[in-house]
Amino acid sequence: MPRSAALLNSDDLSAETARPRRSSKPKLGQHFLVDAGAAERIVAALGDVSQRTVIEIGPGEGVLTSLLASRSRRLIAIELDRVLAAQLRMKFAARENVEIIEGDVLAIDFSTLLGPKPGLTRPGLVQEPERADLVGNLPYYITSEIMLRLFSLHRWLRTLVVMVQREVADRLAASPGSREYGLLTATARLYAGVEKLFTLPPQAFRPPPKVHSSVLRLTIAPQLERLGVAEAEFQDFLRRSFGQKRKTLWNNLKATYDQRALTQAMRRAGIAASVRAEALSLEKMAALYRALARGPGV
Ligand code: SAM
Repeated sequence: MPRSAALLNSDDLSAETARPRRSSKPKLGQHFLVDAGAAERIVAALGDVSQRTVIEIGPGEGVLTSLLASRSRRLIAIELDRVLAAQLRMKFAARENVEIIEGDVLAIDFSTLLGPKPGLTRPGLVQEPERADLVGNLPYYITSEIMLRLFSLHRWLRTLVVMVQREVADRLAASPGSREYGLLTATARLYAGVEKLFTLPPQAFRPPPKVHSSVLRLTIAPQLERLGVAEAEFQDFLRRSFGQKRKTLWNNLKATYDQRALTQAMRRAGIAASVRAEALSLEKMAALYRALARGPGV
């Protein structure tokens, strides 16, 4: 499908004339953004990155990469497709602030990317990990896995601007009690404030996907301390609580906890026996978790 000149930036234009367009790999979720205005809005949603390190997931043909290369202090772009990674490396060879990493975002070690550099340590010197901003039009076949991995890497991250399938965006930004609220929403709430920014139709991409896409901004703000919960245990508790969507919270948890203790803890947390996990705020879930951790009361 030909693109109009208005959809291209100058970096794209020089690359376009140099080689024929390769076809995309649907298995890798390759739907390339061709709406230049949307690319601009996505990058702008990160705020001023002139002094920041930005990680880009799945740069593809580089529509966001081109904008970020000239705006960020350091850009690390992670692309799984070997051919695209090689093309990007050539395209940005002259940019000292851009690193193209060929790899799987689900496997990349963020501490190697962002941790202290060897040789910079000396006794008594405490180095805070560098927290990066992150951007990406995510490959939709692994969106939930990527989001869960990013939450597990929250200590390395600050602001995330991601494009996901509209339905996933609705789940991530849902309010308790709504049909879309679930384990992914509760986990997102545990680590970040979530804003839904805008939605794009399939025609904004080449080739067009079957679904609409939405852009979210997540501002990392872990709630573990405020809620008085231990990270791994509370995540496990959430997984069990949301175990089967049709079941009540009590039914999902009764195999794990002593039933009398569970009934008592729910009463102490002010939760009705008939309620489902998706109806409860994260605060209520944490109150139940704490009541169960405290054990049988008087
Ligand atoms: N950012 C580009 C754009 O907006 O036009 C491409 C977005 S496309 C939806 C998703 C990109 O993620 C593709 O370039 C694909 O090759 C890459 N990708 C797929 N799986 C990946 C993975 N596990 N790790 C890193 N990149 C991946």
